[in-house]
Amino acid sequence: MKLRDNFSRVIDYLRISITDRCNLRCIYCMPDNGVLPIEHKEILSYEEIIRVVRVAAALGVKKVRITGGEPLARKNVTYLVASLREITGVEDLTLTTNGVLLEKYAKELADAGLNRVNVSLDSLKPERYREVTRGGEIASVMRGIEAAEKAGLLPVKINMVPIRDLNDDEIEDFAGMTLRTSRQVRFIEFMPIGAGDLWSHERYISTDEIKTRVEKIGTLSPVKLRRDGPARYYRIGNAPGVVGFISALTHHFCGDCNRLRITADGKLRPCLFSETEIDLKPALRGSSSDEEIERLLRLSIEVKPEGHTISRRAEIHGGKHCSGSSLPRSLKPMSRIGG
Ligand code: SAM
Repeated sequence: MKLRDNFSRVIDYLRISITDRCNLRCIYCMPDNGVLPIEHKEILSYEEIIRVVRVAAALGVKKVRITGGEPLARKNVTYLVASLREITGVEDLTLTTNGVLLEKYAKELADAGLNRVNVSLDSLKPERYREVTRGGEIASVMRGIEAAEKAGLLPVKINMVPIRDLNDDEIEDFAGMTLRTSRQVRFIEFMPIGAGDLWSHERYISTDEIKTRVEKIGTLSPVKLRRDGPARYYRIGNAPGVVGFISALTHHFCGDCNRLRITADGKLRPCLFSETEIDLKPALRGSSSDEEIERLLRLSIEVKPEGHTISRRAEIHGGKHCSGSSLPRSLKPMSRIGG
């Protein structure tokens, strides 16, 4: 079975935030004092998540990503992975993490049936990493990446958000990692989203500019990967790894969007940038049948917009800022939406 939205996109990917809490405080994601945590009772239980995924998989969802907040900071995440692995129809089970706790969990996650991990990493310099994450230790993340590779969670994807005058001088170093390893290094455009107040037109760097910088270390040839979604991939020469670009604000983003999100507190969110949410909790916590959950999943696909309007509102056209008004942003932090 295939779930299609009104724009003929096949929706087969569910991203689930399992907690809004995080063990880092990245300066572009969260304010200094963090964000008010959601009360524990409002967070979906593992059993509730498993139920929703079971219903979604029966409708055609094949790919599930566990995210947060920091998913490895929630207790017993291995149990969730093992349970989701058993659901018929779930072909691809992945997790996005900051990597801090990955060394501890990589092997048991792989044994439980996790396919791969994405690790968010915005600097390769210990001092700067500490500054960007407000206190994180890069050595633990590097050990986590190695543990993931050793455990067979391959290929490890590294997600970097280049931000002007913060870490953009490291774009070439990140891309260079693909010359020596089979890692996929993905550059994500800095989005005007979340509770951090760092976003500005000056800080934002378009994919075109990031790509030009990467091309300084070698010619990029396009690579077609299975299920590449909104990312576009390239190889530098014969490098073992590939570089990817996720152009949230400029090209190719919405046309290939195949996903729905579930926030930590159980809201179905058809688009990262739209505030439209459908609450699953009343159905999950009342006496509703699986048919009602199916109806809500279908409804969220029904209302999934063709595209987001954030670039227009941010006055970014073709990767360039056209001067104009201040920026309306989504105030919900990524940790709550599920990055
Ligand atoms: N804690 C996990 C992690 O660090 O990967 C998962 C949650 S985190 C919110 C998910 C991703 O969102 C990270 O890769 C982070 O870089 C990205 N993110 C947060 N705010 C962003 C922004 N304003 N623009 C682009 N990416 C952002």
